[in-house]
Amino acid sequence: MLKLQNSLTGELEEFQPLEEGKVRFYSCGPTVYDYFHIGNARPFIVFDGLRRYLEFKGFDVEFTQNVTDLDDKIINRAKEEGLKPEELAEKYAQAYFEDLDSLGVRPADNQPRVTDYVEDIIEYVEALIEKGYAYEIVGEVFYRVREFEDYGKLSGRSIDDLKSGARVEVDVRKEDPLDFALWKSSTEDEPGWDSPWGRGRPGWHIECSVMAQKTLGETIDIHAGGEDLIFPHHENEIAQAEARSGKQFARYWLHNGLLKIEGEKMSKSLGNFEYARDVLRRHDRETVRYFYFSTHYRKPLNFSEKNLEDAASAVDRVYELLDRVDKLDLVEGEGEKPETPRGEEFSAKLRKLKEAYEDEMDKDFNTPGGLGIIFEVVKETNKFLDEGRDEDLVLARTAGELIGTLGEPLGLFQEDREESIGGVEEELMGLVLELRNDLREREEWDLADKIREGLRKLGIEIKDTETGTDWRVNN
Ligand SMILES: [Zn+2]
Repeated sequence: MLKLQNSLTGELEEFQPLEEGKVRFYSCGPTVYDYFHIGNARPFIVFDGLRRYLEFKGFDVEFTQNVTDLDDKIINRAKEEGLKPEELAEKYAQAYFEDLDSLGVRPADNQPRVTDYVEDIIEYVEALIEKGYAYEIVGEVFYRVREFEDYGKLSGRSIDDLKSGARVEVDVRKEDPLDFALWKSSTEDEPGWDSPWGRGRPGWHIECSVMAQKTLGETIDIHAGGEDLIFPHHENEIAQAEARSGKQFARYWLHNGLLKIEGEKMSKSLGNFEYARDVLRRHDRETVRYFYFSTHYRKPLNFSEKNLEDAASAVDRVYELLDRVDKLDLVEGEGEKPETPRGEEFSAKLRKLKEAYEDEMDKDFNTPGGLGIIFEVVKETNKFLDEGRDEDLVLARTAGELIGTLGEPLGLFQEDREESIGGVEEELMGLVLELRNDLREREEWDLADKIREGLRKLGIEIKDTETGTDWRVNN
């Protein structure tokens, strides 16, 4: 039975979706004003993993991840880049989808964009005003925090605690400093929509409530995001959604811990800052995914080149075993049934390890535990092969398949690294990589990346190492 640590109750709870067998799952998406960095990548990867694991457990999962394509950061960045806000948002939305794909993150079932939901947001805000939860002041609408009794229930603090702890802007128009904007007025050169309160645009928090409920319903099962979003963003999402529907908004709130770089807080001003796409220039996607899953999602995660290299060698160790299994000279046509006591013992071990994997992963999606079990399978299989006898070696194939099955929720060990195209194609690849290296030497990154992307679309993954560039064909 899967248990999840629910930030709302502070308890490890058995996961029971509202509707049997069906999971409605929302995770906060990016604001598309820049490429996403390795800290942003953490929730994308870990909740992609949880989504897959829920499917592994037999649930039918509907997953929504929004795209915030309307925000002050977008407006400001667009001015810097000399683009219209919608052009800038489109550029980085495309980059976001490309980078998710490079990371092996499956596209969400629903990917709502704020600009497609402005009408819905206006109706939603009107309903909140009608119910007394919001008020208009000269073209802007604020949420009346004091009106919502449960405000603070997610962060576990009272309104007064929150007020003294948070840096809230003093705004004389607000009834209470914690009140937040549902609707902002727009100047001539800012994006704006006509509304009952004049031309304007939605505030940030309202988007998620509206898009989550529009795509998944008034009550959803899981709402996920980084722990930095608990207050005020998620607290405000609850206030809006529950005030409007009178029902519980999300039943399980999951939050991932933050990412540090070499032990320090990541920040643009400290200069220790890295885009996910840049990490993918140095490491293949399974290495990157392994790195994110090697620490429990709720704990802080330390990003360092050393940790990535460790991840790369861990992944390699598994592929070495898979390769060893592939290369076994087996007599075809033999059943994969244990025919010796040794074989029976090995098969029993594999069954136990599969159960142990689920036991680990069921403990609040404990991926380091799950990975530990995969390494047990590797160790046992190597041992089995070392003591090999011809008649039962075929069982090692079941172990290879088991690794693929257990790796799938994490998006790991899914590649056929031994496949090669050979012949003229092999030489063509050499030529393409040589051209790409020339471009890189001239710092023509865009063209070099175009080659990498193009190859990836053909199913060829390349990896830069100290000794040159390796490549392989993915399945
Ligand atoms: Zn959100």
